[in-house]
Amino acid sequence: MDRKDKILELLEEHYKGAKPGLHFRNAYELLIATILSAQCTDERVNIVTKDLFAHYPDPKSLANADFNEVSDEIHSCGFYSVKARHIIDASRIIAEEYGGEVPSCMEELVKLPGVGRKTANVVLSNAFGIPGLAVDTHVFRVSHRLGLSDAKDPEGTERDLCAIIERDKWGEAHHWLIYHGRQICASRKPKCSECFLKEICPYLNDKEKE
Ligand code: SF4
Repeated sequence: MDRKDKILELLEEHYKGAKPGLHFRNAYELLIATILSAQCTDERVNIVTKDLFAHYPDPKSLANADFNEVSDEIHSCGFYSVKARHIIDASRIIAEEYGGEVPSCMEELVKLPGVGRKTANVVLSNAFGIPGLAVDTHVFRVSHRLGLSDAKDPEGTERDLCAIIERDKWGEAHHWLIYHGRQICASRKPKCSECFLKEICPYLNDKEKE
């Protein structure tokens, strides 16, 4: 077994069953929550969406919502003006062009305002069960430190990870890497001394040789 396989095996063992941190009941709620989660914690988004979805339970109601009222409701998520515009406009397109149903393919999802490959992959894998590996800031950092990718951008990183991880584990692998990035391999101060990957992590071992 090579080093990458061993790392993936340990990540899976450690974070088996890892689930999304965002609360949602359907694809619409997950899409909106994921757009709001940019530069914001899942905990904060969950607080905001509890009321937001009570007021706007489907794309049609959010499409017809008042911009200022939505901005006020999502204010604490940050970038509220842009996010309010995105979630209202995306809801309008879903209501008018997709019969109120969130589209279940990458090509259509990324046409929606505020939706890039990362958000689309989160929705595909968690709401529709379609394999997708979303690369956010944690996934990007952790996979590079662990030598699982050397790509310069998230799209290349997604390709590298998908090439070494079995297709039916793409969605789950996204959670392994996020959990590891949040709990141990933090951006500024990774807790290497307590990390279960410290023996084989190229980032740590290269640093120790310097
Ligand atoms: S050893 Fe350090 S750098 Fe490597 S994965 Fe663990 S926390 Fe991250």
